[in-house]
Amino acid sequence: MGLYWVPGHAGVKGNEIINKLTRDSSIEKFVGPELSLGVSRQNIRKKIKRWMDNQHLARWQGLKSTQTQAQELISGPSTTAKTKPLSFNKTQSRVITSLLTGHNILRRHLHLIGLTNSPLCRRCEAEDETSAHILCECEALVSLRHVYLGSFFLDPVDIKNLSLGVIWNLSKRTGLPGTSIRLWGTKVLFLRPKYIGTVRA
Ligand SMILES: [Zn+2]
Repeated sequence: MGLYWVPGHAGVKGNEIINKLTRDSSIEKFVGPELSLGVSRQNIRKKIKRWMDNQHLARWQGLKSTQTQAQELISGPSTTAKTKPLSFNKTQSRVITSLLTGHNILRRHLHLIGLTNSPLCRRCEAEDETSAHILCECEALVSLRHVYLGSFFLDPVDIKNLSLGVIWNLSKRTGLPGTSIRLWGTKVLFLRPKYIGTVRA
């Protein structure tokens, strides 16, 4: 038996027969044990990851109205998002996460779950006390915002481009609940209605 290189599609009889057989068999339904072609483990991993990323994105884009606070301040699913909070301590990552997702102890959220009578901001009393209000709009916090975020007022879109460290630096100086280790340590008591009145102004 010999092994020879031959030019393709050049009229070499044996090669032409092989080409025809290949063409004919490619349109036939495969018969035999699956998988008919070997697939590398790396390709399978890539496909699964892509599928998961797409599912994650679809779920993010389909969030209901009660979760739109997070969409307002977070740009979307990110492969590096989980590693950033891990570089902060437990209190910092909890405060930042609660601020950016809207699941916090600011008045609007407390009002939604029936734990406070008014959703209005305890600083300016002009708008609902939401994360976006604190980070972007509250007139009582313009100086802090200018010092720590570089601007008196921001658009929620701007928050998406800020580093988490900068958001932490501002939030811990607002004096709002949840921004100190001591208050977070007593959050179970803090969330009971009779303690709501003890929220720091
Ligand atoms: Zn305000």
